Amino acid sequence: MKKQMTCIACPLGCQLTVEYEGTEVLSVTGNTCKRGDAYARTEIVNPTRSLTSTVRVKGGVHPVVPVKTAGPIPKDKMFEAMRYLNTVAVKAPVSLGQVIVEDLLGTGVNVVATNTD
Ligand code: SF4
Repeated sequence: MKKQMTCIACPLGCQLTVEYEGTEVLSVTGNTCKRGDAYARTEIVNPTRSLTSTVRVKGGVHPVVPVKTAGPIPKDKMFEAMRYLNTVAVKAPVSLGQVIVEDLLGTGVNVVATNTD
């Protein structure tokens, strides 16, 4: 099979063509650098994305604090992760980089605060 995709590893946005059978990647073309090759292979085998969102804060200046995953998580867990973060509330004070959720949905990736409150 053949799949076209846009590399999102940098702003250049190279148009990639991936040939694959099941989860075996046969070739990647159109990439300008190795990161594009790695991105295309991950997209076929186990697509991942970083998640940014907010969680509620109790007793803070603002009602919510922005958070992000400390690394990418499987793409098919994004909606479940967003639903879960909607149920999370943290007590003020919140510091920058504070771990808000450990091991989000068993992905091994923490959710950290990207601001203070
Ligand atoms: S292939 Fe390399 S240069 Fe092209 S968008 Fe991806 S990271 Fe950027």
